[in-house]
Parts: sequence; C-alpha cells; structure tokens
Amino acid sequence: MEKKLQKQLDNFLDEFMLIEYRGKDHIIARKHYREVFDKLVPKYFSNNNDLREPVKLKPQEATSAGNIIIIGAGYGGLTAALCLERLFKKLPVYNIHLIDKYPFHTIKTQLHEAAVRREEVSIPLDRILRKKNIRFHLGDVNSIDVENKNVHLKINEEETLLRFDYLVIAIGSKVNYYNIPGMKENSFSLQTLPDADHIYEHISKICALSASETKQIKRKENLSFVIGGGGLSGVEFAGELADHTAKCVANFNISRNDVEIIIIEAADRLVPFMDKDFSMQIEKKLTDKRIKIIKGEKIIKRSADEVFLSNGTSIKTKNFIWTGGIRVSDLLKNSGLKTGIAGRVMVDEYLKAENNNFIYAIGDSANALNPFSGKPVPAAAQFALQQGRLAAKNIFAEISGKKKEQYYPKVTGEVVSLGKHLAVGWMALPLIKKITFVGFLGRLLKAAIKEKHILLLRKESRNWIKY
Ligand SMILES: Cc1cc2nc3c(=O)[nH]c(=O)nc-3n(C[C@H](O)[C@H](O)[C@H](O)COP(=O)(O)OP(=O)(O)OC[C@H]3O[C@@H](n4cnc5c(N)ncnc54)[C@H](O)[C@@H]3O)c2cc1C
Repeated sequence: MEKKLQKQLDNFLDEFMLIEYRGKDHIIARKHYREVFDKLVPKYFSNNNDLREPVKLKPQEATSAGNIIIIGAGYGGLTAALCLERLFKKLPVYNIHLIDKYPFHTIKTQLHEAAVRREEVSIPLDRILRKKNIRFHLGDVNSIDVENKNVHLKINEEETLLRFDYLVIAIGSKVNYYNIPGMKENSFSLQTLPDADHIYEHISKICALSASETKQIKRKENLSFVIGGGGLSGVEFAGELADHTAKCVANFNISRNDVEIIIIEAADRLVPFMDKDFSMQIEKKLTDKRIKIIKGEKIIKRSADEVFLSNGTSIKTKNFIWTGGIRVSDLLKNSGLKTGIAGRVMVDEYLKAENNNFIYAIGDSANALNPFSGKPVPAAAQFALQQGRLAAKNIFAEISGKKKEQYYPKVTGEVVSLGKHLAVGWMALPLIKKITFVGFLGRLLKAAIKEKHILLLRKESRNWIKY
C-alpha cells in the first residue's frame, strides 16, 4: 500500500514537472519538490530520497536477464549504448548488446577529409567499450523479426540471431541513387570509411597518372571532377578536393588550369536547408577556389565517362562522386515497421517506433518530428546524439516504471567546412542568440566540434580514447 502511494506521488510529480519545467531544470525541480513532499509526508519517503532510483524488479525477472540490443555504433547507437550501460549499472538485469558491421566508430561528419587527405576519422570500438558492460557483435543485420523479437545477422559469414526485449535501431543512412540510370554502377559514394578509402586511392592515382601525361587534353580529362549534389557532404568534399588538387598538381609541376571541379545541384542554391545568406557565402567561397557551380539542373543519366543533365547537355568525366541523396536500408521497411520518407522509421514523441512498445529508432534511421514545426528532424549528427541519449533514458524509464521524456530537438549550430582552413556557419550561445563564423575561425570551430564529440565519448565511456 505504502509503495503504491509512493508510486502515485512519483507519477504526480512527473506530470507536474512536465508542465512546469523541461530539461536540466526538470530534474533539479523534481528533486526540490520531492524534498518538499518528503517533509510533508515523511512516512512515505523517509527511506528513499532519490526519485531517480529505479523500481526494483520482481526476483523471477531479475534472475532471467533480458537483452537490450542496439544496431549501429554510429553517433546515435554508440551514445545510446553507453548511456544504457551507465543507467543499468544499478539494475544489471538487462544485458546491453551493440551490433555493427565494422569494428570501429566512424566520425562520419569528417568523412570527406578521409576521402581527400586520409585524415583519421575512425576510432576502434574496443577502446570506447573498454571495461564497459556492453557485449559487442561484429555483424551485418539483415532482418528484424518484430513479432518474435529477433534480430537476424551475419557474423563472419554465419547466420545467427539475437533475441531482444528492447531494440534501438541506429543504422544511419546509405546512398540514394533515385534509380538514375547508370548512377550506381559509375559513381563513387561517400557514406562509409571504405567509400572514403576508395575515393582516396582513386584521387591519388589520378593525380600521379597526370604527372607523366604529356597530352594536355588527356591530362584535363584525368583531372576533371564532378560532384553530384550540392548539399552538406557535397560542398564539404568539393572544398577539400579543391585544396588537395591545387597542392597535388603544384607538387607534380602540372598547371592548375588543367584541374576542373564542378558541383551540380538540382535546387536553385547550394546547401538548401541552411539560411540563404549561408548558401550565398558558401557559393562565393567555393567559386573563389575555382569550383564551377551548376544550379537548378538535375542529373538524369550517368555513363562510364559522362554525366547527362536535364537541360540536354552533358559533361565528360571519369571522376564522379554522388552525394545527391540518402535513404535508409530496406531492411527496416521489410521488417514491417511503419516507415516514411526515405525509408525512415516513423517514431512517436518518445522515439518509439509507431505501434510498437519495444523498438526505438534514432538518428538518420528515424523520422522524428520536431514538435514545434511538425516537420521531420533533418539527418544530422547533433540530432542523432541527442536522440541516442533520450532513447536510452526512455527505455530505462519504461523498465523502471518512470515517466518517459518527450523529444525536443535542440539546434546547437551548423558549420560547413570548405577545405582545410575555411568554414562557414553559426553557433547558438547562451546570451547572444546566434554567432556566425566565416573563414579560419569557422574552421577552428568545426575542428572543435570533432574534438567535442571525442571528448563526450571519453566522458560517456570513461575511457581515454585515442584515434
Ligand atoms: C561526408 C559527410 C559529411 C557530413 N557532415 C555533417 C556535418 O557537418 N554535421 C552534421 O550534423 N551531420 C553531417 N553529416 C551527417 C551525419 O554524419 C549523420 O547524420 C550521422 O552520422 C547520423 O548518425 P546515426 O547514428 O544515425 O548513423 P551513423 O553515424 O551513420 O551510424 C550508423 C552505424 O550503423 C552501422 N550499420 C549500418 N547498417 C548496419 C547493419 N545492417 N548491420 C550492422 N550495422 C549497421 C554502420 O556501420 C554505422 O556504424 C555528414 C555526412 C556525411 C556523409
């Protein structure tokens, strides 16, 4: 009876707090009110002052440990796994499993740097998971049996399955070729570390081959690069490529005029999801780097050495990088989960898959709505990180009988790097509404964001991660 009343009061406090406070203040305020109640009705609270203490599970539940599985060790999945591990430390009745097809965490926001100048953008997972109660599985998930709660995966060519009680889907996104004829067969993509390595090998070879090429027309053909898609990854890659090729041709005594870099964007401006001012600045900076920009034209076909545009023209190139769109793997749609645009799993305000009580989806894999605008949250690392943390908290809340938190995206800033020494963007600051950056300062900020991500991983995993 006492316990029942205590739980009712806990629920009441949660309801009350949700109306009055949010975020960090919520916890502080909840603690405060708990203390007030404690004084008023000490009978119910005298032995237990921590509202966040989980409800004890029944002994039979405690003996048979359940499984929480996270698929994907990217921004969202890794954050969720580390958070869950921390939250369940005092309640070790759930095993945390993390699955990824690679044995490393990729700092995907920096992938263009790996593709052009072989910058280190991966961290071995064993360094992050050291001394963590997380079981890692190096495997490729090929299906999810939603009804029987099984994840089917291939580990070292062998099919196997893992049973889950709760599942977090964080498999990120992959390239969308939009069924454009010849696109998949004749383009480089930039979504994974192997993709970046592939591009790096190719660029190095192309530059070196051009050094001994005596015919200028052939040299120009070799050094013609076309990037399909002027979104974030397209412009960041183009900026890096311009710096790198300039250096490479100078080192090989080739004329800079032999290099041509073109971005083709279907919209009427680059990085269309950013403010127009930023688009203009990005375009100006890229043009200064001798990059040609074609806007408002769609790519309708690709052959081995030509790109065909919707205006009837074509561009000759053997070096074509497609960054024009992303989508989520069909495995989510095939599992019977409700999916939306680009195959993203439809989730509710708690990041739980619609019509399912045990599956959460986060990051690029999820179609999470911004409750203020009603629009889907864009695919970006900062949202994947926030969602990873929230999904972990909500699973813990669900299991320990607490109230779940609603998802509210926080936009902390947007920074677009345009080469090794240049970036454009803005950042939210506590007192000033927005601070904008153009130039080297912006580049420092982008580098700081990468370091911040590693710092947070260090903090979350309590391991001194080196990469
Ligand atoms: C070149 C480039 C630049 C970018 N720059 C920025 C930027 O500046 N700022 C920004 O906010 N965002 C940027 N993004 C987008 C950002 O990287 C993504 O939004 C973010 O990585 C999404 O995080 P996630 O956790 O959803 O997925 P990811 O970080 O992609 O992680 C998904 C993980 O799932 C694993 N996986 C996938 N399928 C399976 C499977 N079937 N079985 C097992 N494991 C699987 C993958 O190996 C991967 O480790 C950029 C993206 C690219 C490609």
